[in-house]
Amino acid sequence: MGAFLFAVSFIFGTIIGSFINVLVDRIDTKESPFRGRSFCPYCHKTLAWWEMVPVLSYFFLKGRCSLCKKKIPRQYPVVEFVSGLIFALLFWRFSNFDFFNLIFSGVFSWEKVLIFFDLILWFYWASVLIAISVYDFKKYLILNQVLLPAIVISFFWKIFLGIVAKFNPSFFLLNSFLRTNFLGDKNYLFGNYSFFISLALGIISFGGTISLISWLTKEKAMGWGDALLAFFLGIILGWPNSLLALIFSFLIGGVVSFFAIIARKKTMKSYLPFAPFLSIASLTIVLFGDIIIKGYLSILLI
Ligand SMILES: [Zn+2]
Repeated sequence: MGAFLFAVSFIFGTIIGSFINVLVDRIDTKESPFRGRSFCPYCHKTLAWWEMVPVLSYFFLKGRCSLCKKKIPRQYPVVEFVSGLIFALLFWRFSNFDFFNLIFSGVFSWEKVLIFFDLILWFYWASVLIAISVYDFKKYLILNQVLLPAIVISFFWKIFLGIVAKFNPSFFLLNSFLRTNFLGDKNYLFGNYSFFISLALGIISFGGTISLISWLTKEKAMGWGDALLAFFLGIILGWPNSLLALIFSFLIGGVVSFFAIIARKKTMKSYLPFAPFLSIASLTIVLFGDIIIKGYLSILLI
């Protein structure tokens, strides 16, 4: 059952990845990503079903359009595969927590529905991060049309979950779920925070820091779009995950800038899209936060 759901998550992710590619490419032309069949951007040939299978079609077609033989951008298979991988890892992550086995066994309860819906929302939030990263990477802009609804949905969902857990102490599963931290059993190092304090500190620490940098550097290092993305990340991560994700994004950003300058692709002045770093760092903490903390502590203790 676990392996089957893991595979389903991967396939579901590649399909969403394929949708993200279409969304990112069509959003500037105001075409709906939901309407109209996919077509080759060069010769406008409508794609057959076997030309639209995520990841696999790219290899069947040897990376070229079947009619005009123009090259299909690598963005397509890469985004599809990465989305599948992230979805599969999210499922693996959530199944690692004790409560997840409980959701699929035993009697029905509303708290199980809420926790399952939370996993679905994590799929949605990961998709938002992928779409924003791809678009920022290509155009150096944050996709507000995608980010703003995600901020509203995530904020109200977190508030709702917190209220339900507070006023229904009998929702034991939900309470233990809310306490489950991506940093695992070493979370105590950062202190114990209630759900709403964690949410508030997450927003202030992540969103506040990036806003401050954006303001101090007059948007030269990071823009207000990045700050808005950081507010979203603060909401979905909470404290202290937000702190680690913030540190991690600067580490990744620093290392990538260093190599980009060495490779002379970028000078110190040219702009580096920061949304991919923020997104990669945040997803890394969500997926491997406990492993990273444990690894770091074991290095310190040697
Ligand atoms: Zn073509």
